Amino acid sequence: MGRPRVGIAGISLEASTFSPALTTTGMLAPKRGQAILEAREFWAAGGALAEAAEWVPVMQARGIPGGAIPLDDYLSMKAEIVSGLAAAHAERPLDGIVLDLHGAASAVGLDDLEGDLAVAVREAVGGDVLISTGMDLHGNVSPRFAEALDLLTCYRMAPHEDWLETKERAVRNLLDRLALPAGERKPVKAWAMVPVLLPGEKTSTRLEPAASLYRRVAEVAELDGVVDAAYWVGYPWADEPRNHAVVMVTGDSAEGLPARVHGARRGDLGAPPGVRVRRAHRLARGGAGARGRQPRDAVRHLRLRRQPDRRRGR
Ligand SMILES: [Zn+2]
Repeated sequence: MGRPRVGIAGISLEASTFSPALTTTGMLAPKRGQAILEAREFWAAGGALAEAAEWVPVMQARGIPGGAIPLDDYLSMKAEIVSGLAAAHAERPLDGIVLDLHGAASAVGLDDLEGDLAVAVREAVGGDVLISTGMDLHGNVSPRFAEALDLLTCYRMAPHEDWLETKERAVRNLLDRLALPAGERKPVKAWAMVPVLLPGEKTSTRLEPAASLYRRVAEVAELDGVVDAAYWVGYPWADEPRNHAVVMVTGDSAEGLPARVHGARRGDLGAPPGVRVRRAHRLARGGAGARGRQPRDAVRHLRLRRQPDRRRGR
């Protein structure tokens, strides 16, 4: 294959649903076309990946941490992303898409914004297009989000000294897979939930236990047959079922490897659907890190009632 044709789009925001503030489209200042490429040195003119693909930049919104996005604002940004990618795909098929996300965005009245967006993008371009994302480790990875994408990774450092390196790695992972014959591009994905939710202040990768844990992430990522390994600690400042830690390994052989990242037996990871948040509460109260004040704060926040005017149908 010659140069692959790769779409770029995304909504990147870390949104606390406990804040009364809202983050509007204007505050997310969406970039379109060439401005998206110029914002990242690796694919900007003269960058290492500038000529590695025919880039098709559609729309990229990005904001500083804040409150949730008003639902209409989210739906119109989603519509622009989906119709832009669909139009590009109809003009000449896309081989891949880079979905640039933080992983902890929220829209008022909608659970799992990133899952909603990923499913819509997948439906617009079909199953053959490879979709890759590089996220913040404070993002969330619901099963439907993981299912809709092909390549997922996140930062391995908190504070996030490796943010740009991670964004570039997500793009390189995609380009590497697109260089394979069409039948061999799709990686296997192994997803495992870790039923605990800790605040970022307690999960610095400079300190234990995160320091050892993230060393294992890098070790597993280097194994034969593995494309990438990632550990999301999750985002505690939103009350959604998806908010908990997740480990994923992608590659030609990934099965069983999340447990190796976590340092657990396979059976120790995961929980039956429906008990996830409750079990996360219990573990946060009595389990890892429970001696500090911060985990109890996280539990308290999770227990706050959903505000009826901000949650559709609940
Ligand atoms: Zn973060």
